[in-house]
Amino acid sequence: MAKKSSKQWRPQTRLVHEGTQRSQHGENAEALFLTSGYVYENAQTARDRFAGDADGFIYSRFSNPTVSMFEERMTALEGSETARATATGMAAVTASMLSHLQAGDHVVAAKALFSSCRYVIEDFLPRFGVASTLVDGLDIEQWRAACRPETKAFFLETPTNPRLEILDLRSIADIAHDNGALLVVDNVFATPILQRPMEFGADIVVYSATKYIDGQGRCLGGCVLCSEQFLEDHLRTYMRQTGPAMSPFNAWVMLKGLETLDIRVRRHCDNARVLAEFLGESSAVRRVFYPGLPNHPQHNLAMAQMDGSGGGMIAFELDGDQSRAFRFLDALEVILISNNLGDTKSLITHPTTTTHQRLEEEARLELGIGENLLRLSVGLEDVEDLRDDLEMALAA
Ligand SMILES: *Cc1c(COP(=O)(O)O)cnc(C)c1O
Repeated sequence: MAKKSSKQWRPQTRLVHEGTQRSQHGENAEALFLTSGYVYENAQTARDRFAGDADGFIYSRFSNPTVSMFEERMTALEGSETARATATGMAAVTASMLSHLQAGDHVVAAKALFSSCRYVIEDFLPRFGVASTLVDGLDIEQWRAACRPETKAFFLETPTNPRLEILDLRSIADIAHDNGALLVVDNVFATPILQRPMEFGADIVVYSATKYIDGQGRCLGGCVLCSEQFLEDHLRTYMRQTGPAMSPFNAWVMLKGLETLDIRVRRHCDNARVLAEFLGESSAVRRVFYPGLPNHPQHNLAMAQMDGSGGGMIAFELDGDQSRAFRFLDALEVILISNNLGDTKSLITHPTTTTHQRLEEEARLELGIGENLLRLSVGLEDVEDLRDDLEMALAA
């Protein structure tokens, strides 16, 4: 297969072309290699590939041409050395931990995490002897104070789910490195279009590609971006032997998603900004959390870390209790009630009773997740229709 060199291309061009490999048929769109295995011309070739003496595919749990194209495009976008695609975002998060940690190690993470990530850090890793400490991610001193000699990794997301706090990547990366730990960043909410955590010192970046990267609510997927060294020492073997590989079909869908990622994310952000301003002016809304608004507590940090944008997610508190929140949700017509995010369709969720239902009430309140809090993933509809929908439901 022939590959084009892309060294000089800018990001938007790379999103469309990077990593494309054409077969002998010269197909325009990336080919979908829906194959689990590969055949060898002769026994010697099979032997050489297994021994690592010859390049080539062996088995799609290890690698697959369509999946490799997706990994190359993600690598170019993130500016990392390499990447491995996974079946889901949670498979990427779990791989970023299990591939290198062992019993006796320790992990420090921010409390405000996507609920399944918090489960992996707080409940799952300790079952295998990996201790964890959860800190208030905004409080830099807590990160430092939580470190132990056996601390091997820091884990965080920014903006956080659901309150959209912005964590200081550079400061936290420095503390991780002072303590010999790797910083792993879940970059789902910002996407690589707005934020590239490695530029601020992150060692590993993980994605749920299910969200903005597919962006059209079709397939599950994930990705781990890291150094060649980390791949060589840890991730390659973990992926080969434990099997969280992305399906070629999903990689093909994700590749097509990446081609429009830049324009989609910018439109999500434009729409979100208009709606955040509208909600901020409404008397029925108690508080709006949107990093793009000057009244957000970490607004300046958001502007510096997220390419001057506030992102496509908004959180807000209604004036009232849970029944008020439910009445508002049920009155919406364009915006759909769904816990997914990063979709063309605007989706809204009530974290207390859905995504964060698993947490004890005390832990929820500590994170500022009250019964009147809502999280809105702003879609690509006409923003006037979205604003009308919110206005109508606020009056309900
Ligand atoms: C959705 C999500 C995940 C998990 O991704 P899946 O593809 O659903 O497994 C992890 N982190 C964040 C921030 C997410 O939004």
